[in-house]
Amino acid sequence: MTPASRKVLLVIAGHARDKEDCRLIMAMLGVTPPKPKRRRGRPPVDHGHGHHRTYYKGCRCADCREAYRQYAATLRDKWRNDPTSADRAGHGKSSTYRNHACRCAACKEANRVEVNEYRARRRQRAALAEAGDAR
Ligand SMILES: [Zn+2]
Ligand SMILES: [Zn+2]
Repeated sequence: MTPASRKVLLVIAGHARDKEDCRLIMAMLGVTPPKPKRRRGRPPVDHGHGHHRTYYKGCRCADCREAYRQYAATLRDKWRNDPTSADRAGHGKSSTYRNHACRCAACKEANRVEVNEYRARRRQRAALAEAGDAR
């Protein structure tokens, strides 16, 4: 078996219906897929604790939380001062209302619905707590 050249691979890919078909044709031709030169995507970077990227990776230690809080605040600040950011985020979402300070009708309505749901949940919880106390 010889590693397939790029040209050969493209021809195979053009004829194959799917991945499985692709493998089958390569096996028939007696070629192997080329070895990937490097891993897909960017290499992992360890930012250590106290960094918002470490928070994104799932760390919830006090340092990472604080770093994320500050990062999110500067991001929101930037979004608020950039009117096009709300357009990019998409309207009709409560997150656009909150994070991008958009006050268009669609975002206002989405926020209103969410606030109502939040209040209903709180009322329900309060009622449950009260019922629990009454016992
Ligand atoms: Zn951490
Ligand atoms: Zn909007």
